Amino acid sequence: MESLGKVIAEVIALEIGFAMAFETDSEMNATNDRYSRQVLFQEIGAAGQKKLAAARAVIVGCGATGSALASLLARSGVGMLRIVDRDYVEPSNLQRQTLFDENDARESAPKAIAAARQIARFNSQIAVEPHVADLIPANVDSLLGVCDLILDGTDNFETRYLVNDYALKNSVAWIYAAAVGSYALTMNVLPGETACLSCIFPESPRGTIETCETAGILYSAVNLVASLAATEALKFLVGARSKMRRTLLSWDVWTNERAELAAGAWQRRTGCPTCSGDFVHLAGEGRPHITLCGRNSVQIHERQRPVDFAEMSVRLKPHGNVRHNEFVLKFWRDPYEMTLFPDGRAIIKGTTDTAIARSLYARYVGS
Ligand SMILES: [Zn+2]
Repeated sequence: MESLGKVIAEVIALEIGFAMAFETDSEMNATNDRYSRQVLFQEIGAAGQKKLAAARAVIVGCGATGSALASLLARSGVGMLRIVDRDYVEPSNLQRQTLFDENDARESAPKAIAAARQIARFNSQIAVEPHVADLIPANVDSLLGVCDLILDGTDNFETRYLVNDYALKNSVAWIYAAAVGSYALTMNVLPGETACLSCIFPESPRGTIETCETAGILYSAVNLVASLAATEALKFLVGARSKMRRTLLSWDVWTNERAELAAGAWQRRTGCPTCSGDFVHLAGEGRPHITLCGRNSVQIHERQRPVDFAEMSVRLKPHGNVRHNEFVLKFWRDPYEMTLFPDGRAIIKGTTDTAIARSLYARYVGS
């Protein structure tokens, strides 16, 4: 107890020290003040903070984990964040997707846009580049190009294998992060220095691993995995690469079970196609034209033509309820709800039957 008391006393002393330092230092300008506590952390320091300001990171997927990652990195002062997400905000997201609010859910704001808006409210000094898009082989170069690090905020292995292929091919580091139920899982992939995702998971665990649709999800598990991954990202971006974890770490916040599986260069799997330069996920179509989103919804992304929302609204009005803003058009026809994006992509809710979704799309939007 004595040592705990000592620690508490030291923490209080430190806090008082901080407060006094900033009250007396009139030269501290607003920009420096923002990151002052982080700069005091020696492993980052002023030099590390400068590197963060010049860094560019991409977050693929901006749901729960992506929101937490984006928030952590934006507040830490990573100079440029590119946020890629295909989805829109719904009320059921608000329990854990911290960058969104009720207003975003009411207007079905695309998550990438809503995230960028929210980040601008707390850190207008960094650049955020939102992309409302589904990451596929056809757009992977433009969406992941010119960046220092890729972070995983997705909820599916299809996209992760695509990111893994891209990262290994272009020698870009990426950080795998997943949370489901009370369980968090993360691994750093440093091309040439560690195993890759395909070394550890030769096959997609889809079907054996529960998704958050069936197992639910604890916000605390999301926050844990995002905190771990964001810290690894900070190490990478300030040049503390040797401090990065070379394991697959799993942590159950409910049972307190914690495990680490070595994932360094020695754990690279003989015959791993990705490590051997056979990038099947980049080469293929990657996914069928119609994808199940895994939540009583079907995504249609076969039409690559822009949609004029005003014109489409007039056309749909006789068939059901319709409304639109600059980002999405929503169309309700019982029991279905269609969300249309400006590039012609749509998410149809109320069915997992791709044939029904496709025929609805053809009938109301066109083929
Ligand atoms: Zn590999």
